[in-house]
Amino acid sequence: MFKNQFPFFINKPEQVYLDSAATTQKHQSVIQAVNDYHCLSSATVHRSAYAIANEATLLFEQARDLTAQLINSPTAEQIVFNSGATESINTIASGLQKKMITGNKILILASEHHANILPWQQLSARLGLSIEVVNISDKGQFTQPEYAALLKQLSSDVAILAMAHVSNALGNIYPVEEVCRLANQQNILTVIDGTQAIAHMSVDVTAINCDFYVFSGHKMYAPTGVGVMYGKRTLLNELLPLRLGGEMITRVSFTDAEYQAPPLKFEGGTPNISGVIGLGAAATFLKSNMHSIQQHEILLSKLLSDGLEKRHDIRLFGNVSAHLNQRNQNVDEVTLGCSIGLHSFVFSNHHLHDVATLIYQKNIAVRVGHHCAMPLMNVLNINGTMRVSIGCYTTEQDIQRFFHALDNTLAELDENAGYQLIPKSKQQDVNQHTDKINNANSISHCNDNSTVGKVTETLPISFNIKQAKGWDNQYRQLLLASKNLNTLPVEMRLNENAVFGCESDLWIAYSNDQLCAYSQSKIIRGILALILEKVMYLNTPLTNNHRDQKSTSIAASFDYFAYLTELNLTPFFSVGRQDGIRNAITAIKAKLAIHHKT
Ligand code: PMP
Repeated sequence: MFKNQFPFFINKPEQVYLDSAATTQKHQSVIQAVNDYHCLSSATVHRSAYAIANEATLLFEQARDLTAQLINSPTAEQIVFNSGATESINTIASGLQKKMITGNKILILASEHHANILPWQQLSARLGLSIEVVNISDKGQFTQPEYAALLKQLSSDVAILAMAHVSNALGNIYPVEEVCRLANQQNILTVIDGTQAIAHMSVDVTAINCDFYVFSGHKMYAPTGVGVMYGKRTLLNELLPLRLGGEMITRVSFTDAEYQAPPLKFEGGTPNISGVIGLGAAATFLKSNMHSIQQHEILLSKLLSDGLEKRHDIRLFGNVSAHLNQRNQNVDEVTLGCSIGLHSFVFSNHHLHDVATLIYQKNIAVRVGHHCAMPLMNVLNINGTMRVSIGCYTTEQDIQRFFHALDNTLAELDENAGYQLIPKSKQQDVNQHTDKINNANSISHCNDNSTVGKVTETLPISFNIKQAKGWDNQYRQLLLASKNLNTLPVEMRLNENAVFGCESDLWIAYSNDQLCAYSQSKIIRGILALILEKVMYLNTPLTNNHRDQKSTSIAASFDYFAYLTELNLTPFFSVGRQDGIRNAITAIKAKLAIHHKT
């Protein structure tokens, strides 16, 4: 219904985008407004009186009005523009003064985004407060027992309650209106992170009656780098600004200054004018379409949760389908236990990144990882989840294509998928190659320093990878190669052998005089098998000497990352995973050097 209003999908019809919780695609009215500003009224705001400067200021302040209307702020002056939710929460936490709060605890939910944890850690150190956590269930649910516990925790020794309106990691909608009503009775300052709510439901800050409400433009079809901090008037007056500089003052001397009244007090420096104007357009789009957006998303969300629940090897977190029916009865009703169209899950038999890597190749964008909610992942005792999140442009066909890709991927990952390690037609080639290697081994490879960093020999695994056409086939070969890895015994998977950064647990060590490794990710096991094959080849002594310094030093100086790049493997890994692979290579080299010295 809305998809054709998003130019991205007109340009990329093949793309299934299910990562709207990370960032949304931009609405055509947003792109138009940003473009018009750059083409027709490009000037700075609030400073000059020439025509285009007036136009720019008018557009900027109109965006403030539109944003105030979107969230039912009593006045536009209570809308502060900045770079996003992160800056908003940092502004609040750094600007609060002791006299503005009573009590000595900061209460946060276990599911908070890092942006709603870290600033509070700093504030608690600055003002001598402690942080207390509101728990959620081991299924990531926030239902009656957890809610009852939260109500108990809302006592007069709590200074600040900081919580999300909707969890970015699980999709849960929290009953912020009721919670703020009770918090207000205890004089608790309330900060609601509405980043994941703003594009999916009507937000009414007057009804919620929170002290602060924050969100980011890029999660509501507006540009990146722009966001909002709404605050109650008295608090905005007292809160100290974070960004000091031009435009936020009425008078400055070398030794002191007087600040503007809010909102300008918090908008030091030249603002993101085009971003703010784009955000105004997004606010108009959301306000006029929210009812149909919600109805559409509820149907798709149900389709997603039904499909996920049907599949046996999936473990779902958050409040998914149980309460959707409740929500269906009245789309405007946001009750305890509901969820937006964001589903988070893990697989019983497969590593998240293995599934994601294959799914990505099918033009499906989903997110895997900790979703900037590491403490929550620790509570749930998992490393991360796969998160599928919809937007108003998502269609039924997108969901079907996702499930089709998921089913194919899981089948491919299945051990018994039955591909052949080496195609029969290529068997002879590889035999010849292996003979060559064996011969080369006994001749001169160790003396040839020019080979460093180049794929000069074709070893069995690298042969298969080279022969495989396209990433899908290369990926299959990596999965098969994973079986060839010298597996590190379970009892040796200890901290001292751990390597960090591969987006999966990984250990490397010598066991029985053999370099071994283990990762939960099959694809990382395949990469390790490929690297260790090369290490073994380069480190084979020329003579029968058990500890051959020369071959060890060649193996230790070889550029394995360049080797992987030559095999065309590295472009398919995220920057994070590439760093992790580099860490693994460094660890392998270190183990090699130590082992062969002893
Ligand atoms: N809070 C929540 C719930 C979020 O989902 C995010 C973004 N993932 C943030 C805060 C931070 O938003 P931004 O990076 O746009 O500042």
